[in-house]
Amino acid sequence: RTDAALYAAKAAGRGRTVLSERQPHRLVDDLAAALAARALHVELQPVVDLASGAVTGVEALARWDHPRLGRVPPADFVTAAEDGGLIDDLGAAVLALACADGRVLETAWGRQVLLGVNVSGHELVGQGYADRVLRVLQDAGRPADRLVLEVTESVVEASGPAAQRALTTLREHGVRIAIDDFGTGFSSLSRLDELPADLLKLDRAFLTTLTTSPRRQVLVRELLHLCEELDIVVVAEGVETAEQASLLQELGCRAAQGYRFAPPQPVAELARVPWGHLVPPSGSAPPPRA
Ligand code: C2E
Ligand code: MG
Ligand code: MG
Ligand code: MG
Repeated sequence: RTDAALYAAKAAGRGRTVLSERQPHRLVDDLAAALAARALHVELQPVVDLASGAVTGVEALARWDHPRLGRVPPADFVTAAEDGGLIDDLGAAVLALACADGRVLETAWGRQVLLGVNVSGHELVGQGYADRVLRVLQDAGRPADRLVLEVTESVVEASGPAAQRALTTLREHGVRIAIDDFGTGFSSLSRLDELPADLLKLDRAFLTTLTTSPRRQVLVRELLHLCEELDIVVVAEGVETAEQASLLQELGCRAAQGYRFAPPQPVAELARVPWGHLVPPSGSAPPPRA
């Protein structure tokens, strides 16, 4: 009997508890093996300039195809990595993969592309985080100022002086910091000017009522205005419809990411997009002439 059959039989016999009993340690062991075998990869999701459709950046999202469980959601294996002491290795592996992919895209498109990489709070508070990032960049021959590290608001809020120092060091080297999932934490507007951030990624939650709520539109417009004044670039996340995209643009948003434009995808696929210029399915933007 294969492991998978055994697993399925147990799961069927005892219900959902099997998964939770067996997953924690197994997942960590399997993840350690996958990291050692370099079996993880990343997909890239474009960040587009709303006015032109040009891909100005990409976000690297970690992907793990487990031999038996199939594709494991990043939220699950990132948590497993944090609990199992593997998060530094995972972070470094993703960063190295992303750097290599960034180079492929820049070569294909003949221009510079910002590269977003997600950072776990556990990684950030650990020893030597900034040095590790800078070393990976150096090994990959990538400039620091085209890397955007995405850190959630709650992590920035909760992290102590060591993490703040790491962010400061990285910014001094030119690395940009994005506040990810903005709007899901405490989102204190009064502290926007103190956040060590160059970009702000407006969480998808902002969009759910955007097209139907005039009050929400006021909020987003003023937030965009505030960020513009503070030199913080805003990227709207999880844009799924043409209506959301055009409304965001009307409210003053310049950059967005979401299924409306493109899903996360392997670098080879994205590199085939001519000049890195996305034309939305029913969009009117013509492809640029060479
Ligand atoms: P995130 O950084 O906020 O990434 C955006 C998530 O939204 C991605 O989910 C992406 O696939 C999804 N998404 C993109 N466009 C749309 C859309 O139009 N609609 C909807 N509903 N979803 C959209 P994914 O890839 O499952 O990643 C989930 C989270 O896992 C990420 O959220 C990030 O926090 C974390 N994560 C992913 N890769 C890494 C990594 O390498 N390291 C760390 N520490 N965390 C990672
Ligand atoms: Mg992110
Ligand atoms: Mg996000
Ligand atoms: Mg998110």
